[in-house]
Amino acid sequence: MLPELSPAARALSAPPRPAPLRLRLDADALAANWQALNRMSGHAGAAVKADAYGLGAAQVVPVLARAGCRDWFVAHWCEAAEIMEHVPASSIAVLHGPLDHADVAFAVSSGVRPVLNSLAQAARWIAGGGGVCHVMVDTGINRLGLAMADLADPLLARLDIDLCLSHLASADEDSAQNAEQLARFAAVRAVVRARRYSLANSAGIALGAAYHADLTRPGIALYGGIVRPELAGVVRAVASPQAAVIQVRDLAAGERVGYNATFVAPHAMRLGVIALGYADGYLRCWSDCGGMAHGGTSLPVVGRVSMDLTAIDISAAPQIREGDWVAVDYDLPTAAAKSGLSQYELLTLLHRRFARSAL
Ligand SMILES: *Cc1c(COP(=O)(O)O)cnc(C)c1O
Repeated sequence: MLPELSPAARALSAPPRPAPLRLRLDADALAANWQALNRMSGHAGAAVKADAYGLGAAQVVPVLARAGCRDWFVAHWCEAAEIMEHVPASSIAVLHGPLDHADVAFAVSSGVRPVLNSLAQAARWIAGGGGVCHVMVDTGINRLGLAMADLADPLLARLDIDLCLSHLASADEDSAQNAEQLARFAAVRAVVRARRYSLANSAGIALGAAYHADLTRPGIALYGGIVRPELAGVVRAVASPQAAVIQVRDLAAGERVGYNATFVAPHAMRLGVIALGYADGYLRCWSDCGGMAHGGTSLPVVGRVSMDLTAIDISAAPQIREGDWVAVDYDLPTAAAKSGLSQYELLTLLHRRFARSAL
């Protein structure tokens, strides 16, 4: 008789199947987007916070580094730690700044640079040993950053500032606030001594050369977001969520689909049940509204999206078998208009159940 394997040994010899969900990144499009934004703005960095907007920093950062990117922006200290194996620590800026002395100690020992957002953070930085840092000045968004009135404080003269930043509130609109913030930023530049100045996010890049300063900080446009019409034709789609059909069923006319039976088959039809639901970031707004595609055939979502499952009408693609993959309709501007979600939300929603890979 064969000796019985322990449960742990059995698990190792046959690891359980991961969710049949994958997020394919087009590495060429990602690199081309950074290069286009870099050309357009003179010198671009990259916002890679929130796991590179949900696309996977481990996949995105090496591609952008090879394309030439040298400046990285994350929100949290733990996000800096995640990308430190790919890029020099001194090229990573933590936007939320040092919230306590432990953050300062991490920055000083690792070389990751804080973005100081208040006089209190500046004092903390100096007290902890400091060194080269970045400074955010608020020019009107009232989110993070020193107030214009703080700039006369003598503490500022004691900082060794690489980047002096500000952030635009309404760059994706033709708003008078853009020119107002630009004028305030000119006043900031006159009083804050820094090696480099930076104002524009993706949408700000499209506002023109006056907004570009020394370094731009695109995020969403790197990942295929079109946040101003000027970026259409410049920025290519990068992310493609895909999911497997795990069951095929034939329905008779009159049969109901999904929770609360919001869909009733108007005629006999074939259904594909997809292993994708709101727990994966495919929210209920796609119920009876979203779509998927298989080999060029459109397959509309029918019924409610549930936690881990969504049904699609595959009558037009009867060759589909269980295990086949379908691509979720996720063209960002179109999907945003259809769902009411922002292009940013559409990307950052995608759950870690998706296996990320750069192709
Ligand atoms: C997120 C962020 C960016 C990038 O913005 P996009 O609109 O995605 O280009 C730039 N700067 C700061 C301070 C940010 O928080």
